[in-house]
Amino acid sequence: MSNPRYSIIAPIYNEEGNIQILYSRICEVMDSTDETWELVTVNDGSRDRSLEMLQELAAKDPRIKVVNFARNFGHQIAVTAGLDHATGDAVIIIDADLQDPPELILEMIERWKAGYEVVYAVREERHGEGWFKLLTAKIFYRLIYRITDVNIPLDTGDFRLMDRKVVNALQSMREHNRFIRGMTSWIGFKQTGVSYVRQARFSGETKYPLGKMVRFAMDAITGFSYFPLQIMIYVSFVLGVVAVLAIPIIAILRVVLGSGFLGGQATIVVITLTLSAFQLFFLFIMGQYIARIYDEVRNRPLYIVASTDGFDSQPEAEASAASPSPEPEPEAGG
Ligand code: UDP
Ligand code: MG
Repeated sequence: MSNPRYSIIAPIYNEEGNIQILYSRICEVMDSTDETWELVTVNDGSRDRSLEMLQELAAKDPRIKVVNFARNFGHQIAVTAGLDHATGDAVIIIDADLQDPPELILEMIERWKAGYEVVYAVREERHGEGWFKLLTAKIFYRLIYRITDVNIPLDTGDFRLMDRKVVNALQSMREHNRFIRGMTSWIGFKQTGVSYVRQARFSGETKYPLGKMVRFAMDAITGFSYFPLQIMIYVSFVLGVVAVLAIPIIAILRVVLGSGFLGGQATIVVITLTLSAFQLFFLFIMGQYIARIYDEVRNRPLYIVASTDGFDSQPEAEASAASPSPEPEPEAGG
C-alpha cells in the first residue's frame, strides 16, 4: 500500500473515555477530505483499557496504527514515536482528550495546500481549565518567549500540521529532553497559525500534574536558552560595583564619624564582596563552556535545508548533512 496523504498522531495515556469519540470525530473530519489518511496512536504505558480499545479499533480499521510503549515515557516522547511511525505527506499532532478540535484540521490542510509547511494552532481562549493552570501556562509561554533564542509562538501547544520535510528534519534531532513545539520553531520553514478555542477535556483528568509541568518547563528552558547559565554575571556585576563603591564610602564615613566606624569589619566586607564577584564571574565563564559542551553533545543538525537548485540528482529538501545517521534511531528516544 502506498503511503497515506495524512497521518494523525495521538499520544494516549489513560484515555479510555476519549478514544471512541476521538476515533469517530477524526473519521468524520478526515473522510470529508476524500484523501487517504492514517491515525497513529501511541499508547504511553496506559493503565486503563486504552490499549485494548486501540487494538480493537486497529483490528477493524486498517487505517488505525498502534505503537505500544513498554512503560510511560511521557507525552513528548510519545509524540516523537508517532512522528517516527507516521508515513503521510502531512502529519498532524493532536491531543487525545479532544481539547484540540479535530475539525480544525481541515483549516490546517487548507493552509498547507496554500504552501505553508508548519501550521500551528493558537489557543485564543481556554475553557474548562482551572485558574492555576491558566495562569501558569500564561506565565510559562511568556517566559519562554522572552528568554529563549528561537521565537516560539505564544499560546501554542503541539496541535499542529507539519509537512513531510519538517517531520524529516525533526527526526534528525534526537535530543533526549524534548520540547517539540520549540524544536519545530527552531527548524524554520514557512510557518503560520490558525486560532481556536481550547475546549475542556472530554473525559478524564489532565495527565500533566504540577510536577510534570515543572519538568516540562525546565526542558523548554534548558533546551532553548542559556539564560540560567548566564544569570550570575549580573549578580557578579552588582557585587563588584558595591565592593568598589564601598571603599570610598567607608573612607568618607570614617573621616566624618571618626576612625572607629565599622572597625575591622569594613575590610572583611569589601574582601567578601570582591571575592564573591570574582567567583560568580568565573562560574559564568564555566557556564559558557558548559553551554558549548551541551551544544556538542546534543548533536542537533547544524542547519536544515529547505530546497536546493542546480544540483544534478539532489533530492529536494533534506534534513541537513550534519546528522551522522540519516536513519532515525530505532529506540524511541527515552
Ligand atoms: N499524554 C501522554 N503521556 C503522558 C501524559 C500525557 O501520552 O505522560 C498524552 C495525553 O493522553 C493527551 C496528551 O498527551 O493525549 C496531552 O495531555 P493532557 O491532556 O493531560 O495535557 P493538558 O491538556 O492538560 O496540558
Ligand atoms: Mg489535555
